[in-house]
Amino acid sequence: MIYMDHAATSPVRKEVVEAIEPYFTEFYGNPSTIYKVGREAKKGLENARENVAKLIGAKADEIIFTSGGTESDNIAIKGIALKNKDKGNHIITSSIEHPAVLETCRYLEKNGFEVTYLPVYQEGIVRIDDLKEAITDKTILITVMHVNSEIGTIQPIAEIGKIAKEKNIKFHTDAVQSIGKIPVNVDKLNVDLLSISAHKIYGPKGVGALFVRKGTRLETVLHGGGQEKNLSSGTENVPGAVGLGKACELAGKELEKNMKYLAKLRDRLVEGITTNVDEAYVNGDTDKKVPGTTNLHFVGIEGEGLVLLLDGKNIAAATGSACSSKKLEASYVLKALGLDDVHCHGSLRLTLGSENTEEEVEYVIESIKEAVARLRSMSSIWNERESKMKDLEDKNRCKTCSLE
Ligand SMILES: *Cc1c(COP(=O)(O)O)cnc(C)c1O
Repeated sequence: MIYMDHAATSPVRKEVVEAIEPYFTEFYGNPSTIYKVGREAKKGLENARENVAKLIGAKADEIIFTSGGTESDNIAIKGIALKNKDKGNHIITSSIEHPAVLETCRYLEKNGFEVTYLPVYQEGIVRIDDLKEAITDKTILITVMHVNSEIGTIQPIAEIGKIAKEKNIKFHTDAVQSIGKIPVNVDKLNVDLLSISAHKIYGPKGVGALFVRKGTRLETVLHGGGQEKNLSSGTENVPGAVGLGKACELAGKELEKNMKYLAKLRDRLVEGITTNVDEAYVNGDTDKKVPGTTNLHFVGIEGEGLVLLLDGKNIAAATGSACSSKKLEASYVLKALGLDDVHCHGSLRLTLGSENTEEEVEYVIESIKEAVARLRSMSSIWNERESKMKDLEDKNRCKTCSLE
């Protein structure tokens, strides 16, 4: 099986599994207890905290363990909003955030907050001028993701953070897709809060972390026993945290090597596809994106069909368009790039990991070539389009969707 959907989740590395195991069977104590097996669990938890902190240039006591990226985003956004509601009710985010951020913002909108969703244009990147214009006296929080999960574009987080700091506005970034893929340093990025998830970086599912800069005050939104500085109550997921810590340690050690390797694989993949398949275009900026990620669209076909044909060839990849029971629903991220329906529907996301090989990339290029040809031979949109292709104007319009 060739797995090219690392933005959805990743396999857990052997080293991570080995690190976790004793925390199920030997050091299973509750870290809040004072006897030996509890103290051992606590030691594992705190060691993991150090490892997470180290990867992002934070201090261990600025790390809160959570149940994943979704919880981290919720705690950060609701926590800042509720804590600062006397100062203002305005939040700024982008139109291509993960649902964990978007739906949290929509919930807050229903509860008296106002939210500005910044546009991202064809590049898939927010513009600083739009941000500056959106800020008002009432703005209490800016939350913009570091790297987009569907198209891999990198947002200008350090610049946004600088503006937020000048205006005394709290700044959160969802770094679930950037951590372990590009350098992430909380001071260089000027962030107050940063979300992490383990399962996107070869760790287990159901565990994550939130960086909370010293002095940043949050309202508690998850009430209970008061664990994790009263921000994420519940008996700590010690094995999960240990797994996240190990995954962070490995990610830090291998960052530079992986960045080079994945960029090379990805560039070959994109070149192979775009030179072998007509009317295949890269979605979003081609440079400002994480190594290993690409998102393309193929005119005249439907993404779900492509994913199923690739699955038949033992390749796991993703599409932005999902066939709901009634109609084809294009991804909100691709729509935000300004792509029309014809161009949104045939999208394919390929996200590589360090275990992928050059041979796999060649096999995937060939498989996509065959699958797209097969789907197009059955596509009425494509066949109509082919006959219209003599119309030069139509051809030029199509070219505008490629930024290459
Ligand atoms: C996967 C993902 C999340 C959610 O993380 P979970 O640990 O699955 O809750 C949040 N944000 C981004 C950008 C993601 O890719």
